[in-house]
Amino acid sequence: MDEREPRRFDRQARFAPLGEAGQERIEAASVLVVGCGALGGSLAQTMCRAGVGRMLIVDRDIVELTNLPRQVLFDGIHANEGTPKAFAARETLERIGGPTRIEAHALHLDAAQLPELAQGIDLVLDGTDNLSTRYLLNDFCVSRGLPWIYGGVVGAHGLVLAVLPGLNTPGACLRCLFPEPPPAQMLDTCESAGVILPAVSAVAALQAACALRWLGSDAQARAAIEPQLVQLDVWTQEFLTIRARQQSDCPCCGRREFPFLDAAPARGSVVLCGRNTVQVRGSGRVDMARVRQVIAGHASSIIEAGPMLRFAVEGLRVTLFPDGRALIEGTEDSGRARAVYDRYIGS
Ligand SMILES: [Zn+2]
Repeated sequence: MDEREPRRFDRQARFAPLGEAGQERIEAASVLVVGCGALGGSLAQTMCRAGVGRMLIVDRDIVELTNLPRQVLFDGIHANEGTPKAFAARETLERIGGPTRIEAHALHLDAAQLPELAQGIDLVLDGTDNLSTRYLLNDFCVSRGLPWIYGGVVGAHGLVLAVLPGLNTPGACLRCLFPEPPPAQMLDTCESAGVILPAVSAVAALQAACALRWLGSDAQARAAIEPQLVQLDVWTQEFLTIRARQQSDCPCCGRREFPFLDAAPARGSVVLCGRNTVQVRGSGRVDMARVRQVIAGHASSIIEAGPMLRFAVEGLRVTLFPDGRALIEGTEDSGRARAVYDRYIGS
């Protein structure tokens, strides 16, 4: 830590369950925050302010105006410039200062990258908005005995489940409670049901408290943690805490089958929740110079933003990343987005 600021964590270390020893453990820990929008932004902020030693932030999206009512790390400048969320988050967090080393990755997380990203990681925090990533994280973390903390929020309602290894009472993993991802049309999403910041804050607070308790505790105190699922509604102010024990017939933590880890990385396109945006993935890295030649004369508002290329074409706004992934704003029609991708970027 910077010698000029020995008192930065004074109040936190005075909290008896942590103490100086707990604070030292937190400053020695590494966390992976997956997604840094609403939940993930609040989680990343708390981890940074608490002085976690190293934090990796992964997010595939860019900042837009409708994020600002609940995504605490972003401002109007990020939205105007369409900054990748991971980079905008790092910029804001670095202004907070403190000992945390922050690494930002603007990418779509899949099973292929997880082993490298998770190297040296002590805890994974779920700040995503999609179930496919959560089932992937559950498989990955359970298979490696890594703790991870699920958080979900829609409307005013939230769910929190910490999936922690080595408890005296073995706890549930995500698939103990929800063995299969429900069909998409069964789910309320942030798009269909909306979402309010207090619900995000409440869920992120419970996840973050659980993370600090885990990171700041010794092995004996960790083992004594009770496995729980918390359900809350900030509108009606109802909280429900349910004991969440491991299910011996769970396909994941019981039978140790990890289908989400073994699945090939999803290619093709995904409509992003609430964004009027389609993500299209190509077959690998693209030659940015060649794309610039192809779009010349067709596209407008061409901007090179760091490693990305942004342009407007056919009434859509395209952000192209060097790994061949593109976010195509202005449509939820994945066929139309794919056609634009194939025409200007290549299939
Ligand atoms: Zn399980």
